[in-house]
Amino acid sequence: MSCHTLIIGGGAAGLMAAIAAADRGDRVTLLEKNERLGRKVLISGNGRCNVMNLDPDLVHFHGGNPNFARHALSAFPVEETLRFFHDLGIETRVENRGRVFPASNQAASVVDLLEDRALHAGVRIVTGADVADLRRDGGFRVRAADGRAFEADRVVLTTGGTTAPSLGGSDDGIRMACRFGHRCTPTFPGLAPLETERSALHKLQGVRVTVAAEALVDGRAVKSDVWELLFRFYGLSGPVVLNLSEAVAPLIRERLVAVRINFFPGLHANALDDFLRERWQRHPHRSVGFSFTGVLPDKVPPVLLPLLGVSPDQRAGDVSAKTRRRIAEGLTAWEVRILDIRPFAEAEVMVGGIVTDDVDPRTLESKLVPGLFFAGEMLDVHGDLGGFNFQWAWSSGWVAGGGG
Ligand SMILES: Cc1cc2nc3c(=O)[nH]c(=O)nc-3n(C[C@H](O)[C@H](O)[C@H](O)COP(=O)(O)OP(=O)(O)OC[C@H]3O[C@@H](n4cnc5c(N)ncnc54)[C@H](O)[C@@H]3O)c2cc1C
Repeated sequence: MSCHTLIIGGGAAGLMAAIAAADRGDRVTLLEKNERLGRKVLISGNGRCNVMNLDPDLVHFHGGNPNFARHALSAFPVEETLRFFHDLGIETRVENRGRVFPASNQAASVVDLLEDRALHAGVRIVTGADVADLRRDGGFRVRAADGRAFEADRVVLTTGGTTAPSLGGSDDGIRMACRFGHRCTPTFPGLAPLETERSALHKLQGVRVTVAAEALVDGRAVKSDVWELLFRFYGLSGPVVLNLSEAVAPLIRERLVAVRINFFPGLHANALDDFLRERWQRHPHRSVGFSFTGVLPDKVPPVLLPLLGVSPDQRAGDVSAKTRRRIAEGLTAWEVRILDIRPFAEAEVMVGGIVTDDVDPRTLESKLVPGLFFAGEMLDVHGDLGGFNFQWAWSSGWVAGGGG
């Protein structure tokens, strides 16, 4: 009789693992605790699902051992993923930064077609099955919270991370793995907004501006990016901040963490100083605040300039070179102290997870429990913002399902 593979968790990685296992001839059962598969996928990318990214560089993947992801990502690479989705019937559209979306702009298309593909491959899908216990007794024995029992030769754990708990995010799979002796790193919200010290910047609530930003730990830059910043009443959000947040999430409570913002991406203080001098020579009658019209969102100068000791009402032609220099330095290197990261409910990914040293990177099989496999976000691997987390889910799901 063919091998019976049980997949626990019907999200991105679980659906892919189920398809890979069924394609190689396993009898496959997929257990999902929600009544609907892939609820996190459904809300991803604001309901549009940034399904992958064309940039294959390993630099976009993080974790205790960043090299761990290399095998799965090359076994099921970007080109293969594109082909897979194309075969599935999903036409794709590429947006800036290599971000790939379904042409339908609907995340539901991704879940619906993956489900159709899994069913067509013979996968038995059991929803409403909240797995409460996993044991090994010769084969694997699985018990759902409602008492239903399942047996299998192989188990693939794909229960994801703890983000979006209302949609099924949980540490259930991590706890099951830990009962087998697996270790889990401390976990943190990642790709989440950052809380800052209370300051006049809170007046900019709702303002969006494209900036160059750096995440600083004890004054040292650990990650930088150019993307949109969104000011919130508690601090900073928007894609640039979400993307930086994963790099500092574990350090915020222990170290001095800050974000340095350049409101003029690509310009250093000297260049901005020259730009302002020339601009103010042309329009000396304008107030300093008004002089940024057409360059910065109009709400920004009245808030930032007073913090630099400059009245926005001052005539631009009267500003001294020293003050202009102070403005140029301030606006190209605005440092904001970070006090906390927003909770898991607001995060897109979990930082941390099952320690990868105990997992074979080529097969994603446990080194401690033969027949037990892992894929997706529950492992200590996460990606940058922009489709990299799904890429990890597809690639690792495919390998753990036996497609590698
Ligand atoms: C708001 C938001 C937006 C996002 N947008 C994007 C994006 O556009 N692009 C991108 O690349 N990434 C995005 N992500 C991240 C991405 O959704 C995850 O990294 C990805 O879904 C992880 O796949 P996974 O299969 O490991 O986990 P999941 O997709 O979370 O699947 C885990 C599944 O396991 C089930 N489960 C949990 N416990 C049990 C149990 N005990 N028994 C049975 N089933 C269980 C859950 O219900 C869930 O269905 C976003 C995340 C969020 C929260």
